[in-house]
Amino acid sequence: MTEHHYDHFIGGDWRPPATGEYFDSFNPATGRPWYRAARGNHVDVTDAVVAAQNAFSVGIWPRLTPTKRGKLLRRLGDLIEENTEELARKESLDNGKLLREMLGQVKALPEYYHYFGGLADKVNGELLNTLDPAILNYTRREPLGVIGAITPWNSPLLLTTTKVAPALAAGNTVVVKPSEHTAASVLALAQLFDQAGFPPGVINIVTGYGTEAGAPLVRNPGVAKIAFTGSTATGRDIAREAGSRLAGVALELGGKSPNIVFADSDLDNAATGIVAGIFAAGGQSCIAGSRVFLQDSIYDEVLAKVVDRAKTIRIGDPLEAATELGPLALREQLEKVERYVELGLREGGDLLLGGARPVGQGDGWFYQPTIFTGVENTHTICQEEIFGPVMAAMRFTTEEEVVRQANDTEFGLAAGVWTSDLGRAHRMAESLECGTIWVNTYRAMSPLSPRAGFKQSGMGVENGPSVLNEYCHPKSVWVNLDQGRM
Ligand code: NAD
Repeated sequence: MTEHHYDHFIGGDWRPPATGEYFDSFNPATGRPWYRAARGNHVDVTDAVVAAQNAFSVGIWPRLTPTKRGKLLRRLGDLIEENTEELARKESLDNGKLLREMLGQVKALPEYYHYFGGLADKVNGELLNTLDPAILNYTRREPLGVIGAITPWNSPLLLTTTKVAPALAAGNTVVVKPSEHTAASVLALAQLFDQAGFPPGVINIVTGYGTEAGAPLVRNPGVAKIAFTGSTATGRDIAREAGSRLAGVALELGGKSPNIVFADSDLDNAATGIVAGIFAAGGQSCIAGSRVFLQDSIYDEVLAKVVDRAKTIRIGDPLEAATELGPLALREQLEKVERYVELGLREGGDLLLGGARPVGQGDGWFYQPTIFTGVENTHTICQEEIFGPVMAAMRFTTEEEVVRQANDTEFGLAAGVWTSDLGRAHRMAESLECGTIWVNTYRAMSPLSPRAGFKQSGMGVENGPSVLNEYCHPKSVWVNLDQGRM
């Protein structure tokens, strides 16, 4: 393997693709390829699944005590800490997100491996009281087997980690299929798994396109469960395919999150939260606060603050420390954003800011921070996930009205609420139909706290101790203590 040419990582070895074919991965800031990755297909996927099955059932992994498994995960966390710069740089070159943002994300990863490493020897069963004193009934929580992890391009290492860390803590083995756009950092992580001392085959990485490498992983009968993060459309396909062979799925999907500002909030903080909520990561975030609801009496004031800040956002090379907005990750994503902005205008919206590619950014896939007004929640740009730096501002009068509008979407991932009224904060937390609510903050996330999408935003949970149930079978054992009777 060289810096500019990556093979699959299967059974502890770097293996060329079965077809011998590689594909280009692009740097979005320049629009030019910067490495080639193995173009995986069903043959490579089958090899990886067999390696993971072998590692699950024979060899060192199943004989390791859970405490020793946990120690390996913690060692991996330490190695990530030592390699933060390199990993973050690869992510930034691959998906165009700011190096600063990726450093923040990569610096948080060790917490995940340390936390789930600590939980590895706490995956306990229970002793249950049955009605019959002559019966001993207890439960075991057993690993499922091989987990297929399929991830998107916006936060490659984080979203690989949220699956791999709990899956391994529970004793499973894993085959990862990273996004075809952002495999570099995940392949670098494979080297650290190796260095940490994980036995061969416990983690395998097959790169390639969704239909060529992702779909065979979903179909493979050796895979017990698919843990997927990506678009709702792909999530539905995966659920259908995996469901047809009764394999489990955990799905983290799209969003159209409301960010709601009440007149009683600290308006400066709220304006900062709105700008960060939509323009961080160029809006390429499942939790982007793309629908902004502002209460009547403060609508003009907050919008003016938001525009003032958004106007000064410095667009440029994501590796530069002063840059505040990088390019979109893919050319197709840039074109998709442009189509939505045209649609927003056709449906009657007004552009208060942006609405075009910035000048002077070479061939990179950049787009200006964009703010729509004059739209209604029923408009397409308020209902469909754009995944770009496009915000829609809307007015509301009452709490009941904004709850109704905020919930009027097929998604249910996250919401922000800005208020200094404690009662209102908790009422909103109860009424909003989504898996994460932030009050007077936005984007907070931790391995300790569950994250789940309501409605079309997902199925199952990531993070928090309960995620271990996603990766275990409960088994009930009944023992007759009185052999004189049956
Ligand atoms: P995507 O659905 O296009 O692709 C995600 C992954 O699925 C990629 O690895 C891709 O190769 C693979 N894939 C595509 N078709 C497949 C198929 N038929 N079978 C198996 N695998 C297939 O998503 P994307 O464009 O990479 O990522 C953006 C999406 O991810 C957005 O919708 C965003 O909201 C969502 N997302 C959700 C969360 C969350 O936690 N809910 C987090 C980040 C991103």
